[in-house]
Amino acid sequence: MPGLTVVGSVAFDSVRTPFGERERMLGGSATHFSLAASFFTPVNLVGVVGDDFDPDYDELLQQRGIDTRGLERIAGGKTFFWRGHYDYDLNTAHTDTTELNVFANFDPQLGETAREAPVVFLANIQPQLQRRVRAQCTGARLAALDSMNLWIETERDELLRAIAEVDVVFMNDAELRMLTRQPNLLLAARDLIARGPRAVVAKLGEYGASLYTSEGFFSLPAYPLETVVDPTGAGDSFAGGFLGYLAGSGADASDEGELRRAMTYGSVLASFNVERFGCERVLELTREEIDERFEEFRRMTAIEALPAGEGSHA
Ligand code: AMP
Repeated sequence: MPGLTVVGSVAFDSVRTPFGERERMLGGSATHFSLAASFFTPVNLVGVVGDDFDPDYDELLQQRGIDTRGLERIAGGKTFFWRGHYDYDLNTAHTDTTELNVFANFDPQLGETAREAPVVFLANIQPQLQRRVRAQCTGARLAALDSMNLWIETERDELLRAIAEVDVVFMNDAELRMLTRQPNLLLAARDLIARGPRAVVAKLGEYGASLYTSEGFFSLPAYPLETVVDPTGAGDSFAGGFLGYLAGSGADASDEGELRRAMTYGSVLASFNVERFGCERVLELTREEIDERFEEFRRMTAIEALPAGEGSHA
């Protein structure tokens, strides 16, 4: 039975970029991830919200094949809130406010379907929570994790323990350097692989993403876009495309060819996510658009020149 379980933040995000701003949009690492992954596989979402979370959002997630039975609602509680902004360097998110709210005391209890999913993603949230969910997912053949500077600064040891329990680590370049205290990404990836994971995916913002395994290296540029409006959630959409694809195909982290296709689906989903604010673009996306952009990546990255007319990207 295919499927994927994710734990992470389900949030309200207030975001300002040079191109506009939004107040209290639907966001959170688990939300962006689930929406992207839902194109490829059924998703079990594990998280917590307050009673300020509109039931319509729940409905919206369920319509995409996302099982929200693991999304607990706390009466009288407030949903996680993040406020951030970006300057013209859209690769760097500046956090203005983080309110954990209901996540501060969250003790996830997974149902049977969530525990037995073959793939589990520990999206960005407190590392202790990530570990508690990992421990319950006894059926997982592939586990992966993402994190961010806040947890590297405040929970480094616990995060390193969580990393030892997964197969794939997703992090941006600055976070990898900060966590491993290595200036060089190859050495940073080797440092993490020595702790247990099979693969490290370095997210490089507008420069793309690189995959490091003990056997090899693979890298893709980001899809060249004229309009980037809001990078929030790009990392989670990347992981959603990547792991959603692997959950759907049944592959594990030892098949290099499948990992390369997963990198491409990750890049495709991230590229759509940044075209509009929050989840706006991914909520309108179709599977045909995903497959078209996947083929454009294939053409864009071919080293041998392709016959006339096949090499250009639209
Ligand atoms: P990214 O894909 O890295 O851009 O992640 C964006 C999402 O991360 C936003 O929707 C935020 O709600 C969420 N987020 C920001 N800070 C945290 C945090 N400390 N823990 C969990 N989620 C967070």
